[in-house]
Amino acid sequence: MLIKQYRTEFCRPPNLSAQHLRCVAQLEADISEVLPYLNTVLRGHQFFPETPSLTLKFDGKLITLYPRQIAINIVKDEAEAEAILSWLKQQINDTWERRQDLEPSFKVALKPSILEILKILPRTNCRQCGQPTCLVFATRLSEGGSRPEDCPGLDERSKSQLQKYLGQFHIGK
Ligand code: SF4
Repeated sequence: MLIKQYRTEFCRPPNLSAQHLRCVAQLEADISEVLPYLNTVLRGHQFFPETPSLTLKFDGKLITLYPRQIAINIVKDEAEAEAILSWLKQQINDTWERRQDLEPSFKVALKPSILEILKILPRTNCRQCGQPTCLVFATRLSEGGSRPEDCPGLDERSKSQLQKYLGQFHIGK
C-alpha cells in the first residue's frame, strides 16, 4: 500500500462571497512514480512529467496530484472532501499494486476550444453563473472547473450540445 494516511487542510478562496472551500491533503508517502499509471487509469487532463503532477476533472472540480500533496479546488464541506480523498487513496493504492500490468502514460489530453464553447453559450454576460463574463465561464468549462448546468441561461438544446462537445474531452459529465 502506497498511501495509508494523509492530513487534510482547508481554506476559503480569496473571494469572500464564495461558499465553497479549497482542500489540500498532505500525503505521508511520495506518489511520483504512480502518477503516469494513474494517467492511464483515470485518463488525466494534464500531466507534467517535470513537476511531476497530474490534474483530473471530477464533477466540475479540478484535482491536482503532486508527489506529496493532493489539491482540490472546490469542495462544499469536509465530508465531500473526505469522500473524494478516500476514493483517490483507493485508486492510487490499487493502481500502484497493478502497475506491472499497466502501460504508463505521459500524454496530455487535448483541451476543448474556449471559442467553440463560447459560441454555444448565451453570451449575455449576465453573471448568474457566478463568473464576471461568459468568456471566463467558457474558460472554466474548458478546464473542468464548471459544468454546463451552472449557466441558467442555457436552453436544453444548447446544454445538450455543450455536454456532447465537452464529452469528447471527458469533461462535463
Ligand atoms: S450565466 Fe451563462 S449567460 Fe450568464 S454570464 Fe454565465 S455563462 Fe454567460
